[in-house]
Amino acid sequence: MRHAVVIVGAGLAGVALAHALWRDGVDVRLLEARTRIGGRILGVDDFDLGPSWVWPTLQPRLAAWIAAHGLRTYAQHSVGALQFEAADGRIQTHASGMAQEPPSQRLLGGSAALLAPLPALQGAGLIETGVTVRALQLGADGVDVIARGADGPRRLQARHVVLTLPPRLIAALDFTPALPAATRARLTAIPTWMAGQAKVLVRYAQPFWRAAGFSGAAFSQRGPIGELHDASLPDGRAALTGFIAWPAPMRTAHADLPGAIVAQLQRLFGSAAAQPLAVHVQDWALEEFTATPADSAAAPREHPDDAPIVLPEPWRTRVLLAGSEVAPDFAGYLEGALQSAAAARIALR
Ligand SMILES: Cc1cc2nc3c(=O)[nH]c(=O)nc-3n(C[C@H](O)[C@H](O)[C@H](O)COP(=O)(O)OP(=O)(O)OC[C@H]3O[C@@H](n4cnc5c(N)ncnc54)[C@H](O)[C@@H]3O)c2cc1C
Repeated sequence: MRHAVVIVGAGLAGVALAHALWRDGVDVRLLEARTRIGGRILGVDDFDLGPSWVWPTLQPRLAAWIAAHGLRTYAQHSVGALQFEAADGRIQTHASGMAQEPPSQRLLGGSAALLAPLPALQGAGLIETGVTVRALQLGADGVDVIARGADGPRRLQARHVVLTLPPRLIAALDFTPALPAATRARLTAIPTWMAGQAKVLVRYAQPFWRAAGFSGAAFSQRGPIGELHDASLPDGRAALTGFIAWPAPMRTAHADLPGAIVAQLQRLFGSAAAQPLAVHVQDWALEEFTATPADSAAAPREHPDDAPIVLPEPWRTRVLLAGSEVAPDFAGYLEGALQSAAAARIALR
Protein backbone atom coordinates (compact mmCIF):
# COMPACT_ATOMS: atom_id res chain seq x y z
CA MET A 1 0.00 0.00 0.00
CA ARG A 2 1.23 3.47 -0.86
CA HIS A 3 0.93 6.25 1.73
CA ALA A 4 1.35 9.98 1.31
CA VAL A 5 3.75 10.11 4.25
CA VAL A 6 5.52 7.42 6.28
CA ILE A 7 7.07 8.70 9.51
CA VAL A 8 9.81 6.56 11.03
CA GLY A 9 10.14 6.78 14.83
CA ALA A 10 7.37 7.35 17.36
CA GLY A 11 9.11 9.56 19.88
CA LEU A 12 7.63 12.97 20.61
CA ALA A 13 8.66 14.31 17.17
CA GLY A 14 7.02 11.42 15.31
CA VAL A 15 3.86 11.51 17.41
CA ALA A 16 3.50 15.29 17.06
CA LEU A 17 4.05 15.18 13.29
CA ALA A 18 1.69 12.22 12.79
CA HIS A 19 -0.98 14.01 14.81
CA ALA A 20 -0.62 17.24 12.83
CA LEU A 21 -0.69 15.48 9.44
CA TRP A 22 -3.62 13.28 10.45
CA ARG A 23 -5.57 16.38 11.45
CA ASP A 24 -4.59 17.95 8.10
CA GLY A 25 -6.27 14.94 6.42
CA VAL A 26 -2.99 13.45 5.14
CA ASP A 27 -2.71 9.67 4.67
CA VAL A 28 0.08 9.04 7.17
CA ARG A 29 1.67 5.96 8.76
CA LEU A 30 3.92 5.98 11.84
CA LEU A 31 6.43 3.12 12.20
CA GLU A 32 8.17 2.40 15.49
CA ALA A 33 10.89 -0.17 16.15
CA ARG A 34 10.19 -0.59 19.85
CA THR A 35 7.05 -2.27 21.12
CA ARG A 36 6.26 0.92 23.04
CA ILE A 37 5.71 4.53 21.96
CA GLY A 38 7.69 7.52 23.25
CA GLY A 39 11.34 6.89 22.37
CA ARG A 40 13.41 8.69 24.99
CA ILE A 41 10.19 9.52 26.88
CA LEU A 42 9.82 6.71 29.38
CA GLY A 43 8.29 6.56 32.83
CA VAL A 44 7.16 4.31 35.62
CA ASP A 45 4.04 5.16 37.67
CA ASP A 46 4.10 8.87 36.64
CA PHE A 47 7.85 9.18 37.45
CA ASP A 48 10.32 9.85 34.63
CA LEU A 49 13.22 7.64 33.57
CA GLY A 50 13.97 9.85 30.56
CA PRO A 51 13.28 13.58 30.17
CA SER A 52 11.58 15.34 33.05
CA TRP A 53 12.12 19.11 32.82
CA VAL A 54 10.45 21.67 30.62
CA TRP A 55 10.67 25.46 30.61
CA PRO A 56 7.38 26.66 29.07
CA THR A 57 8.22 30.34 29.55
CA LEU A 58 11.25 29.87 27.26
CA GLN A 59 9.89 27.12 24.99
CA PRO A 60 6.98 28.32 22.82
CA ARG A 61 6.08 25.03 21.11
CA LEU A 62 5.99 23.15 24.39
CA ALA A 63 3.92 25.89 26.02
CA ALA A 64 1.41 25.66 23.15
CA TRP A 65 1.43 21.83 23.27
CA ILE A 66 0.84 21.82 27.04
CA ALA A 67 -2.06 24.27 26.65
CA ALA A 68 -3.58 22.46 23.65
CA HIS A 69 -3.65 19.12 25.48
CA GLY A 70 -4.72 20.50 28.86
CA LEU A 71 -1.51 19.31 30.59
CA ARG A 72 -0.34 20.64 33.95
CA THR A 73 3.14 21.39 35.23
CA TYR A 74 4.62 21.91 38.67
CA ALA A 75 7.94 23.40 39.75
CA GLN A 76 10.97 21.25 40.52
CA HIS A 77 11.24 21.06 44.33
CA SER A 78 14.39 22.91 45.37
CA VAL A 79 13.70 24.18 48.91
CA GLY A 80 16.40 23.15 51.39
CA ALA A 81 20.11 22.48 51.48
CA LEU A 82 22.25 21.07 48.68
CA GLN A 83 24.74 18.27 49.37
CA PHE A 84 28.14 18.07 47.69
CA GLU A 85 30.20 14.88 47.87
CA ALA A 86 33.87 15.29 46.96
CA ALA A 87 35.95 12.57 45.29
CA ASP A 88 37.63 11.80 48.64
CA GLY A 89 34.22 11.19 50.26
CA ARG A 90 33.97 14.47 52.22
CA ILE A 91 30.44 15.89 52.21
CA GLN A 92 29.68 19.60 52.31
CA THR A 93 26.22 21.01 52.98
CA HIS A 94 25.29 24.23 51.15
CA ALA A 95 22.40 25.74 53.05
CA SER A 96 21.57 28.18 50.23
CA GLY A 97 20.41 25.25 48.06
CA MET A 98 20.05 25.53 44.29
CA ALA A 99 17.18 27.75 43.18
CA GLN A 100 16.79 28.12 39.41
CA GLU A 101 15.43 31.04 37.42
CA PRO A 102 13.11 30.28 35.74
CA PRO A 103 12.46 27.13 37.81
CA SER A 104 12.47 23.88 35.86
CA GLN A 105 8.96 22.50 35.52
CA ARG A 106 7.81 18.89 35.62
CA LEU A 107 4.70 17.52 33.97
CA LEU A 108 1.88 16.06 36.00
CA GLY A 109 1.76 12.41 34.95
CA GLY A 110 5.41 12.61 33.86
CA SER A 111 6.75 13.45 30.42
CA ALA A 112 4.61 10.63 29.02
CA ALA A 113 1.72 13.08 29.37
CA LEU A 114 3.20 14.83 26.30
CA LEU A 115 2.14 11.81 24.24
CA ALA A 116 -1.46 12.94 24.67
CA PRO A 117 -2.52 12.40 21.00
CA LEU A 118 -1.64 8.73 21.23
CA PRO A 119 -5.14 7.33 21.85
CA ALA A 120 -6.46 9.25 18.83
CA LEU A 121 -3.64 8.02 16.58
CA GLN A 122 -3.99 4.44 17.83
CA GLY A 123 -7.76 4.64 17.37
CA ALA A 124 -7.21 5.72 13.77
CA GLY A 125 -4.89 2.72 13.25
CA LEU A 126 -1.97 4.85 12.08
CA ILE A 127 0.77 3.42 14.28
CA GLU A 128 2.68 0.19 13.85
CA THR A 129 5.05 -0.83 16.65
CA GLY A 130 7.75 -3.49 16.55
CA VAL A 131 8.62 -2.45 12.99
CA THR A 132 12.31 -1.65 12.49
CA VAL A 133 13.12 0.28 9.34
CA ARG A 134 16.37 -0.91 7.78
CA ALA A 135 16.47 0.52 4.25
CA LEU A 136 15.08 3.17 1.94
CA GLN A 137 14.95 2.75 -1.83
CA LEU A 138 14.20 5.70 -4.07
CA GLY A 139 11.69 5.11 -6.87
CA ALA A 140 10.39 7.27 -9.71
CA ASP A 141 7.66 8.94 -7.67
CA GLY A 142 8.30 7.89 -4.09
CA VAL A 143 10.25 5.81 -1.63
CA ASP A 144 10.11 2.14 -0.70
CA VAL A 145 10.52 1.67 3.05
CA ILE A 146 12.02 -1.71 3.88
CA ALA A 147 11.45 -2.86 7.43
CA ARG A 148 11.35 -5.89 9.67
CA GLY A 149 8.33 -6.56 11.85
CA ALA A 150 7.44 -9.32 14.26
CA ASP A 151 5.95 -11.33 11.39
CA GLY A 152 8.90 -10.89 9.04
CA PRO A 153 9.93 -8.41 6.33
CA ARG A 154 7.71 -5.40 5.57
CA ARG A 155 7.73 -3.08 2.55
CA LEU A 156 5.73 0.14 2.47
CA GLN A 157 5.59 2.75 -0.24
CA ALA A 158 5.33 6.46 0.42
CA ARG A 159 5.43 9.69 -1.54
CA HIS A 160 7.44 11.19 1.33
CA VAL A 161 9.28 9.72 4.31
CA VAL A 162 10.14 11.62 7.48
CA LEU A 163 12.92 10.13 9.62
CA THR A 164 12.66 11.20 13.27
CA LEU A 165 15.32 8.88 14.65
CA PRO A 166 18.59 10.18 16.04
CA PRO A 167 20.96 11.20 13.19
CA ARG A 168 23.50 8.51 14.11
CA LEU A 169 20.81 5.86 13.56
CA ILE A 170 19.78 7.50 10.28
CA ALA A 171 23.40 7.24 9.09
CA ALA A 172 23.24 3.47 9.68
CA LEU A 173 20.20 2.97 7.41
CA ASP A 174 20.76 1.47 3.98
CA PHE A 175 19.94 4.10 1.32
CA THR A 176 19.63 3.16 -2.38
CA PRO A 177 21.11 5.20 -4.00
CA ALA A 178 23.68 5.57 -1.24
CA LEU A 179 24.02 8.78 0.74
CA PRO A 180 27.24 10.64 0.02
CA ALA A 181 29.99 9.85 2.52
CA ALA A 182 30.06 13.51 3.62
CA THR A 183 26.35 13.38 4.54
CA ARG A 184 26.82 10.19 6.55
CA ALA A 185 29.80 11.73 8.30
CA ARG A 186 27.79 14.82 9.18
CA LEU A 187 24.92 12.72 10.59
CA THR A 188 27.34 10.50 12.53
CA ALA A 189 29.00 13.54 14.09
CA ILE A 190 25.78 14.67 15.80
CA PRO A 191 25.60 13.20 19.31
CA THR A 192 22.20 12.02 20.49
CA TRP A 193 21.47 14.13 23.53
CA MET A 194 21.60 12.13 26.78
CA ALA A 195 21.87 8.82 24.88
CA GLY A 196 24.94 7.74 26.81
CA GLN A 197 23.41 8.56 30.19
CA ALA A 198 21.81 6.33 32.80
CA LYS A 199 19.08 7.66 35.03
CA VAL A 200 18.11 6.29 38.42
CA LEU A 201 14.85 6.66 40.33
CA VAL A 202 14.75 5.70 44.00
CA ARG A 203 11.31 5.64 45.58
CA TYR A 204 10.64 6.08 49.29
CA ALA A 205 7.57 5.97 51.52
CA GLN A 206 8.26 9.57 52.65
CA PRO A 207 10.40 12.48 51.40
CA PHE A 208 12.41 12.17 54.65
CA TRP A 209 15.18 14.45 53.35
CA ARG A 210 12.79 17.43 53.29
CA ALA A 211 12.00 17.04 57.00
CA ALA A 212 15.76 17.03 57.65
CA GLY A 213 16.19 20.34 55.78
CA PHE A 214 17.57 18.94 52.53
CA SER A 215 16.22 19.80 49.08
CA GLY A 216 17.18 16.36 47.76
CA ALA A 217 19.59 18.00 45.34
CA ALA A 218 23.18 16.80 45.41
CA PHE A 219 26.31 16.70 43.30
CA SER A 220 28.95 14.03 43.72
CA GLN A 221 32.45 13.48 42.37
CA ARG A 222 32.45 9.96 43.83
CA GLY A 223 29.28 8.43 42.42
CA PRO A 224 27.62 6.33 41.27
CA ILE A 225 25.17 9.27 41.05
CA GLY A 226 26.74 12.51 39.84
CA GLU A 227 23.68 14.76 40.05
CA LEU A 228 20.60 14.18 42.18
CA HIS A 229 17.19 15.86 42.56
CA ASP A 230 13.91 15.46 44.37
CA ALA A 231 11.42 13.78 42.01
CA SER A 232 8.49 13.54 44.42
CA LEU A 233 5.04 13.96 42.91
CA PRO A 234 2.52 16.60 44.03
CA ASP A 235 0.27 13.81 45.36
CA GLY A 236 2.92 12.89 47.94
CA ARG A 237 4.59 9.89 46.30
CA ALA A 238 8.27 10.38 47.20
CA ALA A 239 11.38 9.79 45.11
CA LEU A 240 14.90 10.93 44.38
CA THR A 241 16.23 10.85 40.83
CA GLY A 242 19.68 11.28 39.41
CA PHE A 243 22.14 10.76 36.62
CA ILE A 244 24.80 8.10 37.09
CA ALA A 245 28.20 9.65 36.58
CA TRP A 246 30.07 6.39 36.12
CA PRO A 247 30.83 5.60 32.45
CA ALA A 248 28.71 2.97 30.69
CA PRO A 249 31.21 0.04 30.94
CA MET A 250 31.75 0.69 34.68
CA ARG A 251 28.05 0.74 35.53
CA THR A 252 27.32 -2.38 33.45
CA ALA A 253 30.21 -4.28 35.04
CA HIS A 254 29.23 -3.39 38.62
CA ALA A 255 27.89 -6.40 40.52
CA ASP A 256 25.32 -4.40 42.52
CA LEU A 257 24.66 -0.94 41.08
CA PRO A 258 21.33 -0.46 42.96
CA GLY A 259 23.13 -1.36 46.21
CA ALA A 260 25.90 1.16 45.47
CA ILE A 261 23.26 3.82 44.76
CA VAL A 262 21.44 3.23 48.05
CA ALA A 263 24.77 3.28 49.92
CA GLN A 264 25.54 6.68 48.35
CA LEU A 265 22.12 8.05 49.35
CA GLN A 266 22.82 6.94 52.93
CA ARG A 267 26.14 8.84 52.84
CA LEU A 268 24.28 11.94 51.61
CA PHE A 269 21.07 11.82 53.67
CA GLY A 270 21.64 9.37 56.52
CA SER A 271 20.20 6.01 57.51
CA ALA A 272 16.63 6.93 56.51
CA ALA A 273 17.79 6.39 52.91
CA ALA A 274 18.55 2.73 53.60
CA GLN A 275 15.02 1.42 52.95
CA PRO A 276 13.79 2.45 49.47
CA LEU A 277 10.53 1.06 48.14
CA ALA A 278 12.16 0.51 44.75
CA VAL A 279 15.29 1.36 42.74
CA HIS A 280 14.90 1.74 38.96
CA VAL A 281 17.99 2.11 36.77
CA GLN A 282 17.42 3.07 33.13
CA ASP A 283 20.66 2.82 31.17
CA TRP A 284 20.05 4.62 27.87
CA ALA A 285 23.47 3.57 26.54
CA LEU A 286 22.13 0.00 26.29
CA GLU A 287 19.14 1.02 24.13
CA GLU A 288 19.85 0.15 20.49
CA PHE A 289 17.06 2.41 19.21
CA THR A 290 18.54 5.42 21.01
CA ALA A 291 22.28 5.05 21.49
CA THR A 292 25.20 3.96 19.35
CA PRO A 293 28.59 2.81 20.68
CA ALA A 294 29.82 6.37 20.06
CA ASP A 295 27.15 7.74 22.42
CA SER A 296 28.07 5.23 25.13
CA ALA A 297 31.81 5.87 24.80
CA ALA A 298 31.38 9.58 25.49
CA ALA A 299 28.26 10.80 27.20
CA PRO A 300 28.47 14.58 26.85
CA ARG A 301 25.69 16.60 28.43
CA GLU A 302 26.22 19.54 26.01
CA HIS A 303 23.45 20.04 23.50
CA PRO A 304 23.89 19.40 19.82
CA ASP A 305 23.98 22.56 17.71
CA ASP A 306 20.64 23.78 16.38
CA ALA A 307 21.15 22.22 12.97
CA PRO A 308 18.36 21.55 10.51
CA ILE A 309 19.73 19.09 7.93
CA VAL A 310 18.47 18.57 4.41
CA LEU A 311 19.58 15.44 2.57
CA PRO A 312 21.26 16.10 -0.80
CA GLU A 313 19.67 15.19 -4.14
CA PRO A 314 18.18 12.87 -5.20
CA TRP A 315 16.78 12.41 -1.67
CA ARG A 316 16.15 16.06 -0.78
CA THR A 317 12.42 16.34 -1.45
CA ARG A 318 11.50 12.70 -0.74
CA VAL A 319 13.10 12.02 2.63
CA LEU A 320 12.96 14.73 5.30
CA LEU A 321 14.80 14.65 8.59
CA ALA A 322 13.08 15.59 11.84
CA GLY A 323 13.69 14.68 15.50
CA SER A 324 15.15 16.76 18.28
CA GLU A 325 18.79 16.60 17.19
CA VAL A 326 18.08 18.33 13.85
CA ALA A 327 15.67 20.92 15.24
CA PRO A 328 15.86 24.51 14.06
CA ASP A 329 15.79 25.57 17.70
CA PHE A 330 16.35 23.87 21.11
CA ALA A 331 18.10 20.87 19.51
CA GLY A 332 18.28 17.93 21.91
CA TYR A 333 15.35 19.08 24.04
CA LEU A 334 11.67 18.05 23.99
CA GLU A 335 11.04 21.55 22.62
CA GLY A 336 13.39 20.66 19.74
CA ALA A 337 11.36 17.52 18.98
CA LEU A 338 8.22 19.66 18.63
CA GLN A 339 10.08 22.33 16.63
CA SER A 340 11.38 19.69 14.21
CA ALA A 341 7.89 18.24 13.74
CA ALA A 342 6.49 21.69 12.97
CA ALA A 343 9.30 22.34 10.46
CA ALA A 344 8.67 18.99 8.72
CA ARG A 345 4.96 19.71 8.47
CA ILE A 346 5.69 22.99 6.69
CA ALA A 347 8.24 21.34 4.39
CA LEU A 348 5.67 18.71 3.35
CA ARG A 349 3.15 21.31 2.19
C1 LIG B 1 17.93 10.55 30.48
C2 LIG B 1 17.38 11.65 29.61
C3 LIG B 1 17.02 12.85 30.17
C4 LIG B 1 16.53 13.89 29.38
N1 LIG B 1 16.11 15.03 29.98
C5 LIG B 1 15.49 15.98 29.25
C6 LIG B 1 14.85 17.06 29.90
O1 LIG B 1 14.82 17.16 31.14
N2 LIG B 1 14.25 18.03 29.12
C7 LIG B 1 14.26 17.94 27.75
O2 LIG B 1 13.72 18.84 27.09
N3 LIG B 1 14.82 16.87 27.10
C8 LIG B 1 15.43 15.90 27.83
N4 LIG B 1 15.93 14.79 27.21
C9 LIG B 1 15.92 14.74 25.73
C10 LIG B 1 14.52 14.34 25.20
O3 LIG B 1 14.20 13.08 25.73
C11 LIG B 1 14.59 14.27 23.68
O4 LIG B 1 14.91 15.53 23.14
C12 LIG B 1 13.26 13.85 23.02
O5 LIG B 1 12.59 12.86 23.75
C13 LIG B 1 13.58 13.38 21.60
O6 LIG B 1 12.40 13.03 20.91
P1 LIG B 1 12.51 12.55 19.40
O7 LIG B 1 11.16 12.14 18.99
O8 LIG B 1 13.22 13.58 18.60
O9 LIG B 1 13.51 11.29 19.44
P2 LIG B 1 13.37 9.87 20.18
O10 LIG B 1 12.59 10.02 21.42
O11 LIG B 1 14.75 9.32 20.27
O12 LIG B 1 12.48 9.03 19.15
C14 LIG B 1 13.03 8.35 18.05
C15 LIG B 1 12.20 7.09 17.84
O13 LIG B 1 12.70 6.38 16.71
C16 LIG B 1 12.61 4.99 16.99
N5 LIG B 1 13.53 4.28 16.09
C17 LIG B 1 14.89 4.26 16.15
N6 LIG B 1 15.38 3.53 15.13
C18 LIG B 1 14.31 3.08 14.41
C19 LIG B 1 14.18 2.29 13.22
N7 LIG B 1 15.24 1.82 12.55
N8 LIG B 1 12.92 2.01 12.78
C20 LIG B 1 11.82 2.49 13.42
N9 LIG B 1 11.90 3.25 14.55
C21 LIG B 1 13.14 3.55 15.03
C22 LIG B 1 13.01 4.91 18.44
O14 LIG B 1 12.61 3.68 19.04
C23 LIG B 1 12.27 6.12 19.01
O15 LIG B 1 10.97 5.79 19.45
C24 LIG B 1 16.43 13.73 27.97
C25 LIG B 1 16.79 12.50 27.39
C26 LIG B 1 17.25 11.48 28.21
C27 LIG B 1 17.62 10.15 27.57
